[in-house]
Amino acid sequence: MPDERPRFCECCGRSLNNKRIKWLELNSKDGFWSDPDKVKVPDDESQGLFAFGSRCAVSKLRAQSQHLEREADRRFLWAKVTAECELGEKIG
Ligand SMILES: [Zn+2]
Repeated sequence: MPDERPRFCECCGRSLNNKRIKWLELNSKDGFWSDPDKVKVPDDESQGLFAFGSRCAVSKLRAQSQHLEREADRRFLWAKVTAECELGEKIG
């Protein structure tokens, strides 16, 4: 039986058309959102499904992946800096 309760976007708080809700699953372990159609979050890590407007869901996932890319860049730079420091210590 479909759930006809009014829903509000988790992102911007607008009321949602029940037929156009995009559900995202929150992983309580790492705090990241995923599309339940594409990613299976383990049951013991799932915080459950949250309702988003379709546009908000897309921008949420996009912002998150950009964030992850930046994090990866930072880790890469950090690893590089650390390697250079170790090298410098050895030389010095
Ligand atoms: Zn929204």
